[in-house]
Amino acid sequence: MLYDRARHVLDSYHSKKGAPAVPTFLTHGVAGLAVAAVTARKGEPWRYWLMAAGCAMLPDLDVAAFALGIPYGHALGHRGLAHSLLGALVLGGVAAFLAFPADSFTHKRRWRMALVLGLATATHAPLDAMTSGGLGVALLAPFDHRRIFFPWTPIAVAPISPRHFFTELGLRVLLSELRWVWLPALALVAAARVLIRLSPWRSKPSRD
Ligand SMILES: [Zn+2]
Repeated sequence: MLYDRARHVLDSYHSKKGAPAVPTFLTHGVAGLAVAAVTARKGEPWRYWLMAAGCAMLPDLDVAAFALGIPYGHALGHRGLAHSLLGALVLGGVAAFLAFPADSFTHKRRWRMALVLGLATATHAPLDAMTSGGLGVALLAPFDHRRIFFPWTPIAVAPISPRHFFTELGLRVLLSELRWVWLPALALVAAARVLIRLSPWRSKPSRD
């Protein structure tokens, strides 16, 4: 199975480095939801929230590269092009256009959704760059394929295998992510919502 092979390659790579190194998929989803919460309007449909969380997890589908024999450090490898900021905007844009297939190309809702999903997807790579294992992230690909980490890497590395998720290590990782991602994301959303509410440029709700 492709997934098992990819997991095995990644786990063995990370174990050589000391530990596997990804924020959990839940934490990526939380970051996507935070973006969606900042830009949400009243009564957003369920797919708005679901797609924002899903898009923030999407770049990790590139682990399939291991199963396809593409090396980790390759441009199309894990944490390569699919983890770049440009890749995020493209993935988010494509997802938005798939979400509203009936809308015209110029429909305002489509472009707003493209921006929200692009930003939600773009939260993924910076979180990966705040872990300390594996290879870094090709944040600026395709212009610069160097793999980078941020100077500050507080996020505890997470088990890639689901069977390790409900263990002491899994709990430790979740608590670390709660501290370094979930709570700051909640605070940022609250602050951004207050600023938007106080902004003189905020569009007034219609009377009907
Ligand atoms: Zn990732």
